Amino acid sequence: MAITDRSGRIIDYARISVTDRCNYRCTYCMPEEGVSQIPHEQIMRYEEIGFLCRALSELGVRKIRFTGGEPLVRKGIAQFLKHFKKDFHEVAVSITTNAALLAHFARELSEVPLSGMNISLDTVDAAKFREITRVGNIDDVKAGIEAARSWNIPNIKTNTVLIRGFNDGELPDILRFAWNNDIVPRFIEFMPLGDDVWRREKFIGADEILQMLSAYGEWMPLLPQRPASDGIPVGPAKYYVNAATGKTVGVIEAVSNHFCASCNRLRVTASGNLRACLFSRDEVPLLPLIRNGDIEGLKCAIREGMNAKPECWENLRDGKQRMYGIGG
Ligand code: SAM
Ligand code: SF4
Repeated sequence: MAITDRSGRIIDYARISVTDRCNYRCTYCMPEEGVSQIPHEQIMRYEEIGFLCRALSELGVRKIRFTGGEPLVRKGIAQFLKHFKKDFHEVAVSITTNAALLAHFARELSEVPLSGMNISLDTVDAAKFREITRVGNIDDVKAGIEAARSWNIPNIKTNTVLIRGFNDGELPDILRFAWNNDIVPRFIEFMPLGDDVWRREKFIGADEILQMLSAYGEWMPLLPQRPASDGIPVGPAKYYVNAATGKTVGVIEAVSNHFCASCNRLRVTASGNLRACLFSRDEVPLLPLIRNGDIEGLKCAIREGMNAKPECWENLRDGKQRMYGIGG
């Protein structure tokens, strides 16, 4: 039986963090130093993630996104995904990655096979890329994207968090880069997670993002579009299609016009804590049940935890959340 919450929302999409570690230090996501890390023994082992996913799939979850931290820094990730997909062939599997290591993994990832891949790309300018990631090299990401495309990984999208004063003048460059690579670019509102990294004055709402897009007449008109339904749960992005070229762009209004009423997702942190909502302070520890091999107890805990899913995140924000710790 499907997981439903007390508001009647059906939960069929899981985001599972495979690690809280990351090889970048994006300024809007992580502090430069003093990042506390989950001890290794508290991180779910691959067979434990598999066990968790068995429970999730028995509960009707049809799409699982593996994320982090940076999923590709976890040793053995591609092998795990390949085995995973064999065991759960009916589940759509995707990942979110910063693509720093993608050139090395693209071939193996293409063998999973993945249903899609989201790649973070906040700028296409080399110096700015170094600035936002603190340590990254844009050439690695470009090589990763090229490799992913050459191995025919489907449904690649870029995620750009728009930050006023940083990349708000770069929409045309990012669009051009994505469209030239047959990728769907998506612009995301900067979500107010950690108070130490989020600033109100840096936030750009979806309406303004659309105005910015319309300022570039060459792409207009952009018409609202729903992605074709393939039976796989769709995400919260609103898509717009360029009438002349058929190219699409997504805008994710996580803040100004949040999609809580239709939220179909649950999250599990790398240490196996269930999060019914990104902003929720409550976590349900699943690891003891997973380690006991108690599948019925696990399913029950997931159901109960999700039943209590908050209706909306607006009153939950405490300024202490970390996307890299929860699983973005
Ligand atoms: N390391 C991988 C990556 O960067 O793609 C996966 C994890 S990262 C936490 C997942 C996504 O969360 C990235 O696309 C990142 O841009 C986004 N993200 C992190 N902090 C955010 C924030 N405050 N608002 C909006 N998106 C955020
Ligand atoms: Fe790492 Fe992704 Fe956070 Fe950047 S956004 S610091 S790549 S987890």
